[in-house]
Amino acid sequence: MPEGDTVYRTAARLRDALVGRTLTRCDVRVPKFATVDLTGCVVDEVLSRGKHLFIRVGGQSGASIHSHLKMDGAWLIGGQTRRVPEFKVRIILETAETRAVGVDLGVLEILDREHDMAAVEHLGPDLLGQDWEPRVAATNLMADPERPLAEALLDQRVLAGVGNVYANELCFIVGLRPTAPVSRVKDPLRIVQRARDMLWLNRSRVNRTTTGDTRPGRDLWVYGRVGRPCRRCGTTIESDRAQTSGTDRISFWCPSCQT
Ligand SMILES: [Zn+2]
Repeated sequence: MPEGDTVYRTAARLRDALVGRTLTRCDVRVPKFATVDLTGCVVDEVLSRGKHLFIRVGGQSGASIHSHLKMDGAWLIGGQTRRVPEFKVRIILETAETRAVGVDLGVLEILDREHDMAAVEHLGPDLLGQDWEPRVAATNLMADPERPLAEALLDQRVLAGVGNVYANELCFIVGLRPTAPVSRVKDPLRIVQRARDMLWLNRSRVNRTTTGDTRPGRDLWVYGRVGRPCRRCGTTIESDRAQTSGTDRISFWCPSCQT
């Protein structure tokens, strides 16, 4: 599942491929924006904010291609684009040198460049942003003391960039179950800093790790490890789809390490 680090890396790849180049083709396959054609515009910059991506083209009064990967979306570039099924394509951008294809994007819209940041003004501090504010994130996290910890970590208005993998791993690291109320967090500043450290260390890695070990099967503490022994104490890892109320997300935890 795409998390903030995936989006950050995608932005870097799009930046390398497109910035400074002129679009020779712009084919938007989303009905509402199907008539938008940015052919001839120069790509100015590519930004990520939390899990949102912006491709700005055509100067200050130009356009901004806003996308969100949601569950299954991706941006493919160059040779990766050859085998994409047509029905999954949401947008095709081409330059003289390469092409970028947005596939299964959860959100794709073309915004006025001048107002594009309105799409992300609801977000909390961006874990991978230059304006990362740990104290604001920690305060947001504790705002509702009864709220389940995993749910609060996943709320992009609290802090932006955590997906289900990191939410589960962070709960393990602080020794609390995903359903524990946030009031049980002893050091809120520490948990948001750990979140930042995890995403930052993984921002340029393809194989995500939270344990510091990138070898297959050793890269995560609890996520996806139901029925297997806890790396710290050997207790069998449990999982539940209903543990995070209100969302269809699966949780993983060690019954001994997490209270
Ligand atoms: Zn354990």
